[in-house]
Amino acid sequence: MGFAVANVSTMVDRLVAANRLYAEQYRNPGMSAVPVRHTAVVTCMDARLDVHAMLGLELGDTHVIRNAGGVVTDDVVRSLTISQRHLGTTQVVLIHHTQCGMLTVTEDFRRELEADTGLRPQWAVEAFVDLDGDVRQSMNRVLRSPFLPHRETVRGFVYDVTTGLLREVFPLSDVQPEDAPEQS
Ligand SMILES: [Zn+2]
Repeated sequence: MGFAVANVSTMVDRLVAANRLYAEQYRNPGMSAVPVRHTAVVTCMDARLDVHAMLGLELGDTHVIRNAGGVVTDDVVRSLTISQRHLGTTQVVLIHHTQCGMLTVTEDFRRELEADTGLRPQWAVEAFVDLDGDVRQSMNRVLRSPFLPHRETVRGFVYDVTTGLLREVFPLSDVQPEDAPEQS
């Protein structure tokens, strides 16, 4: 226990030290909070995704909203709503990626958590087996949200972590009714 805490502290201390160096070089760009490119990117928290580099973005260009899988959950809709209604974004880019950890878990994870802790999480795991299908599911959730005033430009992609390339995922012409969430 003591070791673990010490190690974590050491790592965080390194981050804080790196921040001191960063701040020494930092010049206040005097930007507004409105993203220059009026775009919000929703993607996975995966450590291999350098969102700014892969999209040629610079500081101040976009909102980046990240979670496990890059899934459009209620909380992502919350962020997108604030992004569009208060901070001037009008376009949404959804990026899932190959080798995503969410391809290896299932909704059984909720039951495992309940067995382990006595508490069933209130959230869905949002696991998926089909990358393209889940990108479309996320696109549909954006398209159907009444809170979002700008739904004309919603585009979805799968990022290949081995090549660095994005591949666009297009909506199916006959959009199926939204899958019922898996509940136990
Ligand atoms: Zn991922």
